[in-house]
Amino acid sequence: MRSIAILNQKGGVGKTTTAVNLASAIARMGHRVCLLDLDPQAHASLHLGIGVATGSESIYQVLMGEATLAEVCQPAGENLWCVPAHLDLAAAEMELAGEVGREMILRDALEAHEQEYDFLIIDCPPSLGVLTLNALACVGEVFLPLQPHFLALHGLSKLLRTVDIVSKRINPTLRLTGVVLCLFESGTRLAGEVAGDVHEFFSKGTSAGNTWSEAEVFQTRIRRNIRLAEAPSFGQSIFEYDPHSNGAEDYANLAREVMGISLASEEPEDSTAETA
Ligand code: ADP
Ligand code: MG
Repeated sequence: MRSIAILNQKGGVGKTTTAVNLASAIARMGHRVCLLDLDPQAHASLHLGIGVATGSESIYQVLMGEATLAEVCQPAGENLWCVPAHLDLAAAEMELAGEVGREMILRDALEAHEQEYDFLIIDCPPSLGVLTLNALACVGEVFLPLQPHFLALHGLSKLLRTVDIVSKRINPTLRLTGVVLCLFESGTRLAGEVAGDVHEFFSKGTSAGNTWSEAEVFQTRIRRNIRLAEAPSFGQSIFEYDPHSNGAEDYANLAREVMGISLASEEPEDSTAETA
């Protein structure tokens, strides 16, 4: 199982949009994908049309030791499953504060499910607290969505340091492997300049042998597309909501890149469907 945490402690950079639509795109390629929502705002769950009633079971009960992952996981489409979040998850940060081994709860809970999915994608909350540490303790990779904005790289050192520390202390295989430029305004000078800065920043890491030395800035840029912003309120991924939109095209391309399929040798959807 390949496991990816979508992380940036800033809100509004495209984490949830990327988690949901990348998970859907990979599931559509025929791989079994589990999308795990670790944000108390539960936007990823709602985006897939999965609402959890107050008191019903979600990832919160798993972290509290009151339910298993199998009990809370819900089908969310062909090849796609969702472990939903609920607002009560906001309390977990405090409730777990005094718990020994609190960063390892999710890793332990996932252990039994390694074989069930080809991909685990975790939508992280906009913070570097206990919930995010649980995600970092159990994944192999971090994807960092960035919005080309003049402060895009601001605050990044704290995030990179957190990934480094988790890799040193509890999860030696953890690496930041991908940077996704989201909400990209193609054609604007600012977007072009910031994209250049991001490339330069991450190319510096390549000689350092740290947790982000393998990071690639994905060639696919997720363009700003209103259809991506509309889809969540219909409880649908972009592929159900508007399969012909730029948003659907961009996330399908990102999924191909993530799978290591060269974008240049792109084949029509139909001929590749049965190979997965
Ligand atoms: P985060 O999870 O990092 O807070 P979201 O994925 O929720 O960010 O995105 C923030 C807002 O921007 C949401 O309203 C979302 O629908 C919208 N959005 C995200 N990506 C795009 C895009 N490429 N084009 C247009 N709107 C987008
Ligand atoms: Mg979000």
